[in-house]
Amino acid sequence: MAANIIDGKAISAAVKEQVRDEIAHEELKVGLAVVIVGDDPASRVYVNNKKKACEFCGIKSYEYALPEETTQEALLELVDTLNADANVNGILVQLPLPEHLDEKSVIERISPNKDVDAFHESNVGRIMIGNYSFLPCTPAGCMELIHSTGVEVSGKECVVIGRSNIVGKPMAMLLLHENGTVTVCHSKTRNLAEVCRRADILVAAVGRPNFVTADMVKPGAVVIDVGINRLDNGKLCGDVKFDEVSEVAGWITPVPGGVGPMTIAMLMRNTVTAAKIQK
Ligand code: NAD
Repeated sequence: MAANIIDGKAISAAVKEQVRDEIAHEELKVGLAVVIVGDDPASRVYVNNKKKACEFCGIKSYEYALPEETTQEALLELVDTLNADANVNGILVQLPLPEHLDEKSVIERISPNKDVDAFHESNVGRIMIGNYSFLPCTPAGCMELIHSTGVEVSGKECVVIGRSNIVGKPMAMLLLHENGTVTVCHSKTRNLAEVCRRADILVAAVGRPNFVTADMVKPGAVVIDVGINRLDNGKLCGDVKFDEVSEVAGWITPVPGGVGPMTIAMLMRNTVTAAKIQK
């Protein structure tokens, strides 16, 4: 039996409409500053999509496109300026930064209540203890997609493949907050297929095309594919071998059109939250 497709495009559109209505209804003035350094084409696409989402929601976007050779000092100075700017409620520095720049110190410089990516150490810590204002956009978007299926997380076996700071680890925490029994797998995990087959909810955040195959999936499971991989033919593909896994899973996200659009929708939501906190 073929899986139900989780429509990230439709669900993200609904979140953005909610954000737009909230801004209009509460007459909020909301601004998001997006900083991009260098001319990485993928980053450019992400930044343009964020700008479009801001326009839709009624969020003013301020774009700072800096040249590749920007120094650490100049970037930190810009962050300081944006921290102090009352029109800017959220600050997002598009990653990855060029190699000569130190990402960690740039993120730590962003005021935690403007850190709409939730990458700042203090926001990461708050997520650990469950006392947070912002959730990191991609894991929060995955949770929305899981909720849309009607499958309860509580008590379920949840397996997250990947342990990065921006996806895998916070994803595991959010599932844990909802009382899932969570296993985090990574490159050193033994018997990966066997562990994954236990999952009622399987989240793949590996960054390898077609990594998750049908034999790794429990029949009826919810499968969330975070991966965005560019193939040699230019096409985008996820971490999950969609054709065969969709024959086994109960629910599955496509790539594109699954987690990707949700990440941006959750950024819009975080930016409104930031504006409200600052108000
Ligand atoms: P990362 O490279 O930081 O982490 C990858 C993780 O996969 C690591 O923790 C590693 O241990 C694990 N891994 C690697 N090989 C493995 C193996 N053989 N077996 C088990 N685990 C293995 O990547 P990331 O930043 O977490 O991103 C993961 C993917 O998600 C990438 O494709 C990225 O482009 C995508 N992504 C998508 C969105 C979105 O909005 N949809 C957002 C962020 C990242």
